Amino acid sequence: MKLLLIGLDGVRIDLAVPAALTLHPGFAAPDHDGDPRFAAEAPVPGAPAMPEPVAAPAAPTLARLIDGGAVLPVWMTPPTDSGPGWSSLLTGTRHEQNNVWWNEFAGHRLARTPDVLSRIFFAEPSARTYAAATWDALVGAAGPGPVIHQRVDQQRGGQHQLMAASDFSRGCASADIQVRTHATGVLNHEGPDAAFVYFEGADEAGHAHGAASREYRAAIGAVDEHVRHLVKAVSERYEAIGEEWLIAVVTDHGHKPEGGHGEDEVDVRRSFLALHVVGGPDAAERLRSRIAGEGSLRSEDVTPLLLRLLGVTGGRWDAGHEVGVRCDIETAGESAGPTRNLAYEW
Ligand SMILES: [Zn+2]
Repeated sequence: MKLLLIGLDGVRIDLAVPAALTLHPGFAAPDHDGDPRFAAEAPVPGAPAMPEPVAAPAAPTLARLIDGGAVLPVWMTPPTDSGPGWSSLLTGTRHEQNNVWWNEFAGHRLARTPDVLSRIFFAEPSARTYAAATWDALVGAAGPGPVIHQRVDQQRGGQHQLMAASDFSRGCASADIQVRTHATGVLNHEGPDAAFVYFEGADEAGHAHGAASREYRAAIGAVDEHVRHLVKAVSERYEAIGEEWLIAVVTDHGHKPEGGHGEDEVDVRRSFLALHVVGGPDAAERLRSRIAGEGSLRSEDVTPLLLRLLGVTGGRWDAGHEVGVRCDIETAGESAGPTRNLAYEW
C-alpha cells in the first residue's frame, strides 16, 4: 500500500467536518496537560464569538474521506506553533527530542529525527518518495529546518523529489495551487511509494481574519478542494492499475476566533488524523479493524501509526554503546597525552 499524507496547516476540525467530533470520544478534551510555560493567553477584549455551529462541513472532501474511512483525535502539545507541530507530526518525536520549539528552528535536531518519508526509505532503500509544500521550512534546502530530509543522493537519481512553492503573487492561495498542480502530476503519473503534500491557505486566512470569519471557512473549503484533486489523482491509479493508497490528512493546530495560535487553547490544540484507503470494496473495513481501539493520539504518535499501517518496521543497531553521543577523552585541564600502556600502542 502506498502513502499519500496531506498536511493542512491551521484547520479547525469543528468547522471542517463538525460530525467528526461525534465519531470519537477523545475529541472532547485534551488527553494530556500542556507545559505551563505555554499557557493559554488571556481572552482578548472584544474578540468575536465563533459563529453558530452548522452541520454542513466546510471541507466536504475531508468529510467524504472520513465517511468512507476513519478519523482519530490528535492532541498537539504546546507550543502549538507550526514549526514544532509539523516537526513532531512528521518525525514521530516530541519537542524535547527534535528541539523545535518555535518557527525559527534554532538548534533543531532534525538531522537525527528523520521524517516519515525517510523512515520508509531507510526501511526499504528502493522506495520512491515525494514532498511538496507551500512552506519552505518543510522541504526547502535554504529554508529553516527543513523537516523533510533532503537526501541529495536520492534526489540526483529521481528517487526523492522535493518541491517548494515559489508563486506567492496571491499569497498562499497561489502557492497552494502551484503545489497542487505539481503534486497531482507526480502522484498521477509517477505514483511515488510515499508522498507528503502540504497546503497553507487556511492558516493564512486564520491569521488574517480569525477562525470566526467567513474568509477562514472559505479558505478551509479551498484547501479541501486541493485535497480532492490529490485524492482523484491516486484514485485514478487504483482504477487503472489497482494500486492501493493510504490517504491520511492531518493539521498542526486550530485558530482562535480572533485569529492566531501557539499556546494552550483547546480549539487550537485539537487536531485530527483522517484515514482512508483507496482500494477494494473492503478497504474501509480493513482499515477500521486495524485501528480499532485507538485512543487519542499525540502529535508524535502519527508517524508511528502510519508506518505501522504501511507495514514499515524500523532498523535496530545493538551497538553496545550509546549511539550518537559525542564524548571526548577526559583530560584534567591540558591534555596529558596518551598513556604508555603498550597494549594500546599501535
Ligand atoms: Zn501551522
